[in-house]
This record gives sequence, structure tokens and C-alpha cells, in this order.
Amino acid sequence: MYTLQTIAEKIHAHQCAIRSEVFIEHFLTDSRSLMHPQSTLFFAIRTVTGDGHLYIDQLYNHGVRSFVVKDEFDKLTQQYPDANFLEVRDVIRSLQKIAAEWRREFNIPVVGVTGSNGKTIVKEFLYQLLADTYRVVRSPRSYNSQLGVPLSVLKMTSEDQIAIFEAGISQLGEMARIEEVIKPTIGVITNIGSAHQENFSSIAQKVDEKLLLFGGCDRIVYNMDEPEIVAGLQRLGLLSRARGWSRKDPKAHLYVRSIETGRDTTKLNFLVLGIEYSIEIPFTDQASIENVLTCVLTTIIINPSLIDHPELFSKLEPVEMRLELIEGNKNNLIINDVYNNDINSLKIALDFQQQRATDADLEPVLILTEIQQSALNERPLYSRVGELIGKYRISKFYGIGKELFAYREFFPTEIGERNFFPSVEDFLSSDIPQQLSQACILIKGARSFHCERISDRLSRKVHETTLEVDLDAVAHNLQYYRSKLPQGTQCIAMVKAQGYGVGAYEVAKKLDQMHVGALAVAVADEGRELRSQGILSPILVMNPEPTAFDTLLEWHLEPVVFSWKLLRALANKIDKQGFDNIGVHIEVDTGMHRLGFRPDEIPELARFFAQSHLLRARSIFTHLAAADMPEEDAFTRNQLEVFRTTADQFSEIAGYRPLYHALNTAGVERFPQYAFDCVRLGIGLYGISPSMDKHLEPAVRLRTTLLQKSYISGDETIGYGRRGHLTQGGEIGIIPIGYADGYSRRMSCGRGWVVVHGKRCPIVGNVCMDTCMIDLSQCPEAQEGDEVILFGDKEARIEDLARAIDTIPYELIADLAPRVRRVYYQN
Ligand SMILES: *Cc1c(COP(=O)(O)O)cnc(C)c1O
Repeated sequence: MYTLQTIAEKIHAHQCAIRSEVFIEHFLTDSRSLMHPQSTLFFAIRTVTGDGHLYIDQLYNHGVRSFVVKDEFDKLTQQYPDANFLEVRDVIRSLQKIAAEWRREFNIPVVGVTGSNGKTIVKEFLYQLLADTYRVVRSPRSYNSQLGVPLSVLKMTSEDQIAIFEAGISQLGEMARIEEVIKPTIGVITNIGSAHQENFSSIAQKVDEKLLLFGGCDRIVYNMDEPEIVAGLQRLGLLSRARGWSRKDPKAHLYVRSIETGRDTTKLNFLVLGIEYSIEIPFTDQASIENVLTCVLTTIIINPSLIDHPELFSKLEPVEMRLELIEGNKNNLIINDVYNNDINSLKIALDFQQQRATDADLEPVLILTEIQQSALNERPLYSRVGELIGKYRISKFYGIGKELFAYREFFPTEIGERNFFPSVEDFLSSDIPQQLSQACILIKGARSFHCERISDRLSRKVHETTLEVDLDAVAHNLQYYRSKLPQGTQCIAMVKAQGYGVGAYEVAKKLDQMHVGALAVAVADEGRELRSQGILSPILVMNPEPTAFDTLLEWHLEPVVFSWKLLRALANKIDKQGFDNIGVHIEVDTGMHRLGFRPDEIPELARFFAQSHLLRARSIFTHLAAADMPEEDAFTRNQLEVFRTTADQFSEIAGYRPLYHALNTAGVERFPQYAFDCVRLGIGLYGISPSMDKHLEPAVRLRTTLLQKSYISGDETIGYGRRGHLTQGGEIGIIPIGYADGYSRRMSCGRGWVVVHGKRCPIVGNVCMDTCMIDLSQCPEAQEGDEVILFGDKEARIEDLARAIDTIPYELIADLAPRVRRVYYQN
């Protein structure tokens, strides 16, 4: 794109240390997205949540040599004598300057979308409408900030025919900078709501700030029925270039004659320059209808002939919202919307809830905290909130926070049950959470209230059996394996299948904190879950299904590719979405015969990667079939040697060397000399060692309590099929765990055992669905309510129990049902 020297001039760096002339093609602000170290320029950005300067060392070790910094120029230039540093006063500003320069290289229509709500949706709808006809570049996800906008603009290439960028602002002075970067030729404003109003002295001031984006536009699209926008366009002298749509004014460029809402679709009839059109769209809610109308008019301005293709509009697909749906206990359905809390998003959430409640025949319940993002004074604010809620069918309303209580008069009294609590704690300690059932519960809360605690409680199952997970032991085991490996070997932690059944998030979070190189999950949804809970490490997806490619891209997940079919489908998707350089991991089959490219397919594959700008091989790996079996060591060594040769061949042909890895836990324990660049640890992290290594700490323990004791005589039988006997007679105990909890039925009739007061007690009779019976003759002192350990004790090792029922430890933990409560400990 530019040489570093040129960049230094363009951003007016006031100190430079350019040790080698480099051609910069990639701009990086998030160290996790590194792809092409040599041609990358890293911008060390400092925000409230992080500081890019802290990642310089790590990036340097990965081969990055060019950095834009604010601080410590002298120290850095000394510490890294072969790296290039540009010092600037404002790092984000320099990135914006480069993007602004880059934007000037292109002479194509550039659509700039702003407004209070619906920017991302309008951008995505426009993309869907135009992508069949043009090559479109657009902001990824909702990259609309001071940082997101320049990163989006830097994605423009000479092949693009139309660009669509989103611009979001939250305070005065921000739009001028964004405008300089986007320089839109067509402006689109969705609407004006109350979001971020606290940073502006009036609505007019906020409107004017947003409209600054349109100073250089030839055409501006707007909703004429929003008087605030009309007035703003007038004030700034933009009206002559503006084209509006309206439901009221027949003189509008696009005049909406009628809107007919059906069950799942809506028919829009409108006039454009006297010609009548009709389209049908697959939405019925108010916000979508308005967003579509904005898009119809924008599309007409870009290319009038597109309106003759009504099928484009009926094909529109919904853009994922931020609402989260959780299945609660007692048949509750929970809608969690705790991202932000303002009136507009409350309305959207209520719309959504009404539909869900009606579809599933559930009682609509609203839990609402104080609204914290509004410019209105409390009184008018809560009067409007109350009025809004009054328009919906709500059977129970719970208000949390002092303000809601103070203005309780505004909340409709006709609601069946209406209650106010000073805090989330007060709500949780009332008996309401236990009483809610068969309800569709909308939790709408400002972030500071931490309403996750409510959804946690409402989704927790009541059950006495728990799996205790010792996160310190997990950390210890990771450190132990690290100590056995050559220095610098990275660890990929396998947390697939919900962390082997233990619970992916908590384990992943611990490992994330311990700086594992990456985490790996089985399917994209597992990865999304981790990301959305704030896990930052790279995440590999071992079995990426084609239906989940969007999830992969959106959440920054790195797929494993193991076949040409998958690879082509993925490349296709990436191309369509306008991404490039997506990191993937190549699986080679050296003898496992599960997934993977055969070694003889590798040369062709490497040629593909040598040429592809869409995909980048981050790593290449194989999986061992029998690393834990000494009698198969010859086979294992052969797998490892074949892998080494194949991977080298790949690197040579592709022209770069991805990371190599082959070892699982058993491999690390028995073949550490083949660690290559990283290893993939799974079962060992939980303290379960395939070669019985004594240095691990057990990390999981399954426990329950003794429900009941009873005396059985020698001639009686116990349980289904009458399979249990105590020939001498004696006490049995009943415990609340059965095969529905994932406790194997193969444990029946004395094959399995539990531990009470440190003593082994065999299972008697058949394991039932929710319970089983144990023989207490060795433990007469046991009392009802006493702790019973099913596994994870030195008398009940997972390895021994697995062997007793002819299976492997993996199955015992992975089988545990969700209703077994997971409890995590750490010091
Ligand atoms: C599950 C898995 C591992 C981890 O295996 P463990 O035996 O649990 O260490 C490693 N690699 C791949 C490809 C896997 O699927």
C-alpha cells in the first residue's frame, strides 16, 4: 500500500526510527488478528480497557517490525534495534489520517450511514440488495467508531465498485474526523433517538453533529417524517441535495401509500416520481419497515433499475440482534438484553418479547432496571417508559432501582402483579425468582446493574448433585506440562464439548488468564459462546459446519480445514463477505483416519495457499491415534515423521511456515521430543493422565448427598429387575443421581462404587434414571445428608472407574448432563 517512509510523512510522525524500508500492506490495532508480520504496521492504541504498547514485545517475537507508538520511543528503539518506530501524539488520529489518504485513491460511490438506531441493519440490508450487482466493500460487523471507521476504509481495494460504511458518534467533535475518513458521496440517516443524548446539549446539536457526515455528499437519504432531521438539513443548507421518504407527504421522493402487515410479511405500496411500486418484505415490526424504506430509496438513488426486482426485497434476511435467548428452568424462556437500556432499545425488546410470548404461549414478564442512557429528566423519562409499557401486554412487572420505585405511579396499575425492589440483590432474595414459571421473561437492564445474576438464577436447575471443578488444579496441570516441554512451546487447550463436560467458559477463562496460545472447541457455537463471554485468546473450531461460517467470521474464530469441499465453501464465503486473510488450521491425516487431508493432497493444497489472499494457514497439524499405547509406538513414530515431512513440504510450496503441532496429552507425556511449535492438551488439564503420571492434580470431583438409608433383609431384592441383593442383610443408601445425569448404567450391580466417609460402597442393583442405591454395609456410620463422592477421590479415581466399566475417563465426564450443577473453585 505505502512504504513506511511515506506513512511517516503522511501522519507527520515527529520522531522516526526507520531501520529498514518496508512496504506496509496491513494495519493492525488488535494483536490477536496478526497475519502478515513483515508487512504489518502495528498501532499501539491506549483505551480505557487496554494498552497496545503492552503487546509490542509479543508482536516483535512474532516477526512484526513496524510500530506506531505514543510513548517510550527511546526505550523501544534501544530495546529492538532492528525494528521501526514512528512516534506520534495521537495514535488513533494517525490511523485516521492514513485511512483518509487511502480513501482518496478511489472514485466510487461511497455510502455513509449514520443515525441513532439501525445503522448496522441498514448497512447489511443495503449490502444484501446490492451484492448481486456490484462488488461491495463494507464495514465489518458494526465497526463504526473512531477506530472502526478507518479500519473499514482501509479494506477498500481497486476491485470494489461500491462502499458502505457506518459512522457512529457519541459526542461532539467526533463526526468531523470520521467524515474526513469516509468522505461519503451518498449520505443515509436512519433516525434520531435518545441514545448518547447525555453528551449533547440538545437534540438539534446532536442532529447537526451527525449531519456533518454529509457535507460532501451529492445525495442524502432521510425520513421526512422526522421533523428533527428535516430541521437539521435545513439549518445546514443540505435540503436541496436530500431525498426523503414519507408516509404523510405526497411530494416526497418516495411516498408511502400504504403498509399492509400480514402474519409474517408486510406489503409496502409506494410512489416514486409518480410511478407506483409494490414490494413485499419478510418483516412485520416497525423498525424493520422503516429501515427497509430507507434502503429502498438509497437503492433507487444508486441504481433506479433495481426497484424493478421486487424479489431482492422479499429475500432480505434479518440481521442478528443483540438480544440473548436462554432456556430457563420451570419452562421459562429468558430474553436477556443487558447491553444498554434506553427507550428505543426497550421498545425493540418489548416487540420481540410479545412475539415470543405469543408464539410459545408463555406469560410475558418484564424485569426492568433504571434507564441510564437518556437525556430526559427522570420525571418525563419514567412517564414515557410507563406509557410505553402500557401499550404492551405484560402480566408481571418488576422494577429494580430507586428511581423506578420513586416514579412507580407511572407504571400501569392494570398489570396483574407489580413490584419494586431497591436492588438486584433484593429481587434475588425475594421469593419471586422461585415462583416464576411458564413465563417469557424479558430482563432489560442497564449494564451497571449486572443483571446476568438474574438470568443465572432463573436458569439454574435445582439439584443436589454437583461437579466440583478446581481451577487451581487446572492451572497447576498446565504449568506441569509446560515444564516438560521445550521452552517456547505453545499450548492449545482443548475445551471442546463444553470443556469435556466440565464447563467450557470457566476453564477457558482460567486458561485465557494463563496465556495459553489458543483454545479449541468442536463447533462454532461453542466458540461464539466463549467470545461473547469475553474470552480473548484465539479460538480454533475443529469441526466448522458450513452453516456456521457467519458465526466464525463474526466472532473471530479460526476454523480447521480438513477437506477441499470445506476449504472451497469457506473461501467462497469469505470472498462474498468481503473479508480476506482469514486464519485457518490445516489438518493432515497421518493414520488416525478420521478427518484431514491425505499427505498426497498437500502439494496441491500448499499451491492453493500460496496464491490465496482469502485464507492464511496459521497452523498445520495431525492427530495421533494411539499415543498412549506403548505397543503401538512404531506406528506413532511413523505418524510423527510423516507429519514432519508433509508439513515441511507444505511450507516450502506455500512460501511460508505455519505453526506445526501433533501431540495430545498422551503425546506430550510420552513423545515430548515431537512437540514442534505447540501441543494440544485436553484430558491432562483435568488431572487425568493417560500414562498415570503422578504429578497431576485431580481437578474434577462429582459429589452428591445421601438422600435416605434403609435396612434390607437377606431375602429381599433391590431396584428394577430385582437385580440387587444383600445376602447377609444390611443398610442401603439412596442417592440422587441416575443415568439421566450421565451416570452410566454400566455402573450397576457392583461394577461401580462410590465413596462415603472415605470408604468404598458398591452400587447395588440397577442404576435408575434419577437415583441409584449403594451398599452401606462397610460404612455403618453414614447418615442421611452425608456427602457421597462418585468420582474424583483417591478411593474413586476416574481412571479406575472407567476401567471397571470398560470405557475411558473422557466418557465419564463428557456424559454428565447439564442438570448436574457445576461449581468452580479457585483461590
Ligand atoms: C480432543 C483432541 C485433542 C486432545 O486430546 P487429549 O487426549 O484430551 O489430550 C487433541 N487434538 C485433537 C485433534 C482433538 O480432537
